[in-house]
Amino acid sequence: MARIVMKFGGTSVADLDRIKNVARHVKREVDAGHEVAVVVSAMSGKTNELVGWVQNTPKVVGANSPFYDAREYDAVVASGEQVTSGLLAIALQAMDINARSWQGWQIPIRTDNAHGAARILEIDGSDIIKRMGEGQVAVISGFQGLGPDNRIATLGRGGSDTSAVAIAAAVKADRCDIYTDVDGVYTTDPRIVPQARRLKKIAFEEMLEMASLGAKVLQVRSVELAMVHKVRTFVRSSFEDPDAPGMGDLLNPPGTLICDEEEIVEQEVVTGIAYAKDEAQISLRRLSDRPGVSAAIFGPLAESHINVDMIVQNISEDGSKTDMTFTVPSGDVEKAIKVLGENKQKIGYDVIQNESGLVKVSVIGIGMRSHAGVAATAFRALAEKGINIKAITTSEIKISILIDGPYAELAVRTLHSCYGLDKS
Ligand code: ASP
Ligand code: MG
Repeated sequence: MARIVMKFGGTSVADLDRIKNVARHVKREVDAGHEVAVVVSAMSGKTNELVGWVQNTPKVVGANSPFYDAREYDAVVASGEQVTSGLLAIALQAMDINARSWQGWQIPIRTDNAHGAARILEIDGSDIIKRMGEGQVAVISGFQGLGPDNRIATLGRGGSDTSAVAIAAAVKADRCDIYTDVDGVYTTDPRIVPQARRLKKIAFEEMLEMASLGAKVLQVRSVELAMVHKVRTFVRSSFEDPDAPGMGDLLNPPGTLICDEEEIVEQEVVTGIAYAKDEAQISLRRLSDRPGVSAAIFGPLAESHINVDMIVQNISEDGSKTDMTFTVPSGDVEKAIKVLGENKQKIGYDVIQNESGLVKVSVIGIGMRSHAGVAATAFRALAEKGINIKAITTSEIKISILIDGPYAELAVRTLHSCYGLDKS
């Protein structure tokens, strides 16, 4: 017998038929004798609709300002999950399964005060554990908790993944199954590379890199949390027949396991290729090379909430002038240039150059730690295709390469095949 947290995303609970299908997945695990907690998202599209209503209300009233109370935003947008948790509990009861719904405040899931983007601080799992022990399925609304002000707080878009992992950690679940509309994590985006393979396992660190680079299977924060609490997390599809052979397999269900690297026996050197579009490059030329110059550049950018990613500084020839290049999301270029312009005196540079529409392609794999020549392989393969590299950064488990946007797909395909990731 095991304790399992099952999470179902918006497309998996999109209508009553899909909810019935979810109930069948839950029934399978209950019938096998497991203790089960279920976390649900709102029906797909629902949260967007609710957000739209919130944003439109001040306009419709004719207010001068578009601003609204973030606590009321949370009161409204958290309702989508309240509906699906109640409906799923009804569906389960109708199938003679003992079940009840739980809202975040009832557990409670304690969060900080950042309404609209709250972080989970603490979950009291005792009630849920007790009920599960008595054979009751806990159907929990994802995406929501209770703030220190005793008001509903939501966790930021996509936050029900984080709810699920946090609950799995709190009840010490053996596994957290994230059911979604894809059947696992792939070596790269299968829409770009049809030869992409589904991974059986991926290490937490690698998944974190994949997720933050736009492989949008899981909310990044949920992966961080899974890594910290070592929650074995499966990504699997709710669209497969709940009673197909192997679906209830305790050790090897179909899907991708995100786990500690120690669990991965046959580690490949490279696990996946990820990419992030809409990057822009900003270069400060003939920058004075002195202590404090980086702080003078990146301090004001951080204060303006501009997310700087790759940073490349040259070593100056004579110790007086250097060049600094870094990337920001394309949407932030104008703001960044304005901020840098305002600080020109303090920073001390000659000119700013910028270029938008770039793409960052990354090669990810913990096997890189112990293998030489991984980067050289990428550079050679890209050179053969005539793809020019604009900037490079590396970490222990990642090589990121900045290139012109139109080459993105070619680069992803080239890298995917040069590391032998194409399925045969
Ligand atoms: N329903 C919320 C959203 O759309 C939370 C989630 O689906 O994870 O962002
Ligand atoms: Mg989601």
